[in-house]
Amino acid sequence: METSERFHPDPATQTYADVLLPVAIAKAYTYIIPEEMIPHLAFGHQVEVSFGKNKRYAGIVVDIHRNAPGQSQPKPILSIIDARPLITPYQLKLWQWMAGYYCCSIGEVMNTAMPSNLKLASETRISLSPLYDHSFEGLSDKEFLVTEALSIQGELSLDEIRDILGQKTIYPVIHQLIEKRIIYLKEEMQTKFQPKTVACVRLQEPYASRPELLEEAFELTSRSVKQTDALLAFVQLVRTEPFVRKQAVYDMAQVDHGVIKAMEKKGILESYEQEISRLPGYEEEAVEISELSEAQETALAQLRKQLEEHPAALLHGVTGSGKTRLYVELIQETIRQGKQALYLLPEIALTTQIIDRLQKVFGDQIAVYHSRLNNNERVEVWRSVLEGKPVVLGPRSSLFLPFKELGLVVVDEEHDNSYKQQDPAPRYNGRDTAIYLARLHESKVILGTATPSLESYHNAKTGKYGLVELFERFGGLELPEVHIADLKTPPPPAGAPQPIFSTQLLDALRETLEQKEQAILFQNRRGYAPVYRCTSCGWTQQCEHCDVSLTYHKLQNHLRCHYCGFRATQVPACPACGNRDLRLQGTGTERLEDDLGIHFPDARIGRMDLDTVRTKHAHARIINDFEEHRLDILVGTQMVTKGLDFDKVKIVGVINADQLLHFPDFRANERAFQLLTQVAGRAGRKGSRGKVIIQALQTFHPVLKDVIAGDYKDFYRREIEERQAFKYPPFYRLIKITLKHKIPETVNRAAQHLAIYLKGRLDQRAIGPAMPYVSRVRGQYLLDILVKLERNNQLIHQSKEWILEGIREVHKLEGCSGVRVNVDVDPM
Ligand SMILES: [Zn+2]
Ligand SMILES: [Zn+2]
Repeated sequence: METSERFHPDPATQTYADVLLPVAIAKAYTYIIPEEMIPHLAFGHQVEVSFGKNKRYAGIVVDIHRNAPGQSQPKPILSIIDARPLITPYQLKLWQWMAGYYCCSIGEVMNTAMPSNLKLASETRISLSPLYDHSFEGLSDKEFLVTEALSIQGELSLDEIRDILGQKTIYPVIHQLIEKRIIYLKEEMQTKFQPKTVACVRLQEPYASRPELLEEAFELTSRSVKQTDALLAFVQLVRTEPFVRKQAVYDMAQVDHGVIKAMEKKGILESYEQEISRLPGYEEEAVEISELSEAQETALAQLRKQLEEHPAALLHGVTGSGKTRLYVELIQETIRQGKQALYLLPEIALTTQIIDRLQKVFGDQIAVYHSRLNNNERVEVWRSVLEGKPVVLGPRSSLFLPFKELGLVVVDEEHDNSYKQQDPAPRYNGRDTAIYLARLHESKVILGTATPSLESYHNAKTGKYGLVELFERFGGLELPEVHIADLKTPPPPAGAPQPIFSTQLLDALRETLEQKEQAILFQNRRGYAPVYRCTSCGWTQQCEHCDVSLTYHKLQNHLRCHYCGFRATQVPACPACGNRDLRLQGTGTERLEDDLGIHFPDARIGRMDLDTVRTKHAHARIINDFEEHRLDILVGTQMVTKGLDFDKVKIVGVINADQLLHFPDFRANERAFQLLTQVAGRAGRKGSRGKVIIQALQTFHPVLKDVIAGDYKDFYRREIEERQAFKYPPFYRLIKITLKHKIPETVNRAAQHLAIYLKGRLDQRAIGPAMPYVSRVRGQYLLDILVKLERNNQLIHQSKEWILEGIREVHKLEGCSGVRVNVDVDPM
């Protein structure tokens, strides 16, 4: 019978499609292509398929073939969602590489790579809002569970959320999360992406293709003045516009829609909907840009030469040397060759300052892909890149856009650790992925920074990358003078706490304010005080769910956990010894702002940290206030170190350098050098020479010496020796495996098992398990296993397979299936 033949077709005569699904499975899944779809399907098309129990997904066709799969009878493709290819073969190759390199599934990569409006499913689903900053603070336990699940899976159906919460009524939680702008509801499949359209008119045939017949059309309208006017207006508009909006005709000819309707009936004009971009247009003329200085000319010539000889070049240029100006030059060359250019920046450095500047240079040729875009805008950028948009500016996620032919990738601030995605998988490094992406397109990469990562500088030193140095600030500006202020002298009176400000810093601030100039103070801790401690026995008030002490926030007058948002009031007496003398210790940005107000009651003081930039435009507003000198002193965390140009910053103060230098991590020195140099670079950008005061207890630390001298090379020489001696990158590759579970015995057993499994194969290259710096977060106990590998591709490849196999073994252990295991390749 015909129906049974349709349901049980001969596998040998079928055509199949391998479809990639946005779920954590290792491979594309094979489906049957129904007869009638065969002529319409090709690589990159989006199709609707069912997967698992009653689940429908939008997948992407990545192969079409006639090989019957070994699996049980494949299901048919249900529909073609979009008959235009959504991805390019380059993207598939990139995703495959990322899945292999970063030890995750290609479905997880696809999930991260695609804008959520392009990852549909049939039921109503929810996903994380692009406005959400991935902080879990301030969430109830239920809200947290949903948010965490979403950050792993990308999106969830309402049924799945019911399962996660173990309850039927979930609308209140969903509602709260929408209110907090953390999630949004996804629409039904078909109506997902709605392009913006405008009503337009065009000529009907034969006039459209034979303009010489237009005179006939005018004869047809000769008895109506209004119709003649409308046609005249149309003819005039069509000369200059790519399409003629109805409204423009109404406005110019002073007619209404009845007139157009009548002309449609006469066979002259017709109405249609024109798709237009939601992205704001930059119709103003591209502006002239400043001439290159001599130093910039030289550096540009060197860059060109280095890029001829190497796939990538490191541009090591001091802050204020005008690296952006060089990028612009090379991007323009790339466009002239008819290729695309990608300009990457850390998200936080994508300020309106840089966006404005580049939009003025490139006008409509540039698309900006940042987290503040809504989902429809993201899809529009995606499509515009697919259609050949010449320049894209964006954070690491713009690596996933469908470039057709990349000629140049710029990774600015290449040292910045926010290029690394921590959660969810793929835990990729945007800089390293950019190198691979460029290789796929046979294009070139520029890594720009004032403080190169050890890895990149090592690559340059060993000849893998080119190296270009630019040690002169643009416009003849001098680098700031850097001083160390010793917090030990004069010593505080017995029993008194360490003062926050040295006399040097106070004097310098006073002078700055008198001269109507500005200052930036940097302290890498937010809140008022990071510790609340018993003066008698040393007990500190801790989070109930995490292994960290609570930070006091004065504005809200409570203690808060910076890992989970847990809140508590200060206990009146020490629960360990009964002592009632408990004190706040340490200095956060909030206290700094407070104390400054006491020293300088007339100064206008602003603060920039995670607590003050939570709302949508707060970050831009603080920058703007400081730029336009409505603030005298800006206090902040490392947010103040990222890419800002301020004109009148006379003084930069670092409140406590010791905290940076004594962090238990092999990258602590590198981070400290980078942060201190970057924050110092904010001083004295225009006009006069700036001054930097670094307060420290351990004033003779070699890193401080290098920061004062601005001597990156000395810093590198010392640091690279240590890395080699202690088997760290760039000489060894690290893979960090983190296991989590709410029962300590369970995570212990799982970690021991995995460690034994790995040590049996990798010997001493597997280290641990060990407790991380913060060993409990959100009630989950954490253990780390570290794998250190020589740079031998075969060994690395084999090790990754062992790691994945070992994790599968762990999940088979009784009681261990619920242990979460994260693999982080090249952890930062
Ligand atoms: Zn006590
Ligand atoms: Zn906590």
